[in-house]
Amino acid sequence: MRIERDFPLQPYNSFGINAKCSVFVEIEDILDYRLLIDKPKIFTPPYYILGGGNNSLFKSDFEGNIIKISNKGLKVLEDSPEFRIIEVGAGEDWNDLVNYCIQNHLYGIENLIDIPGNVGSAPIQNIGAYGAEVSTVIEKVHFFEVKTGKKGSFTNAECQFSYRNSIFKNDYRQQLIISSVIFRLAKNGQLNTSYGDINQTLNKLDRTPTLKDLAHAVSQIRASKLPDPKKIGNAGSFFKNPIVNQEKLNDLLKEHPNIIYYPINNKEFKLAAGWLIDQAGWKGKQIENAAVHSKQALVLINATGEASGEEIMQLANSIIEDIKRKYDVVLEPEVNIV
Ligand SMILES: Cc1cc2nc3c(=O)[nH]c(=O)nc-3n(C[C@H](O)[C@H](O)[C@H](O)COP(=O)(O)OP(=O)(O)OC[C@H]3O[C@@H](n4cnc5c(N)ncnc54)[C@H](O)[C@@H]3O)c2cc1C
Repeated sequence: MRIERDFPLQPYNSFGINAKCSVFVEIEDILDYRLLIDKPKIFTPPYYILGGGNNSLFKSDFEGNIIKISNKGLKVLEDSPEFRIIEVGAGEDWNDLVNYCIQNHLYGIENLIDIPGNVGSAPIQNIGAYGAEVSTVIEKVHFFEVKTGKKGSFTNAECQFSYRNSIFKNDYRQQLIISSVIFRLAKNGQLNTSYGDINQTLNKLDRTPTLKDLAHAVSQIRASKLPDPKKIGNAGSFFKNPIVNQEKLNDLLKEHPNIIYYPINNKEFKLAAGWLIDQAGWKGKQIENAAVHSKQALVLINATGEASGEEIMQLANSIIEDIKRKYDVVLEPEVNIV
């Protein structure tokens, strides 16, 4: 376990915000979780649980404890001709896990390649991309309770997964430290090529696409659209796609017949937040050191590398107000504001 004081967080957040925390504690081993019992003061608010920092925005210096989760490990729990069940440490890199699955011909998370972050963060917002969500392969989530230091676990149903959401973001926000995740991965799965440009990219191959081909196609498409946080600070989509009912959708369609939306069920529709922001004229706009990415309006960036968390928030708030004024739709950040 590592404990540091007055610690710089710039290398630990994908926006590259130059903020500091009072205390930085890194949990490097499963045994380090005894800290919850031995040193409960570390979890006296304010504290914040941190994975890879790819979905966290530090508004300013954090006058509290950052608990960084880095415990590793991958264990095969069951291996049958149909599936493999594995337990993966929360601090493992998500993309390393995707590559492990591709190499081992395990289906289920190939569409989620190149989502930056840790395995332990994946259930929090039920990461998703290109028609897939991690909730479809999660069997169980193991955790420690911050208040008591007790171990526990939730089954898939208990996690209450929905679009970019789970019980960990709501009732148990910052109350449970996820220590490992159990995945059930299929050995004879089917490729999910239905979303976006995947089919178009795969059609260029003159053979039946493999798991590796699909992952490569998604990787290529993502790289052409999303800025690499190692080069330009960002946290992927800053806002969630708003969900509206039929009546609201009808009102919007009257005024904006080209509005982009996707039916979720026969009562609810997901609007493309990127389309709203783009149509409102924000794409590529820079205010001080923060900007809206020029290729993807849903992504806010640290344009100069010098942006403060406050500058990113000011830009986000201006967008929220403008979208409310123009469409009467409220955008909510997908990113965790700390
Ligand atoms: C370029 C880019 C592209 C992206 N594309 C996508 C995408 O396609 N789809 C998508 O869903 N997301 C996407 N994201 C967002 C991000 O990658 C995911 O949310 C990812 O899961 C974040 O992981 P992290 O470890 O970096 O999270 P962090 O920012 O460290 O943490 C995220 C949340 O999880 C909590 N947390 C982290 N670890 C634990 C733990 N062990 N126990 C309890 N709580 C914990 C934190 O408190 C915080 O609330 C993208 C981000 C970037 C920068």
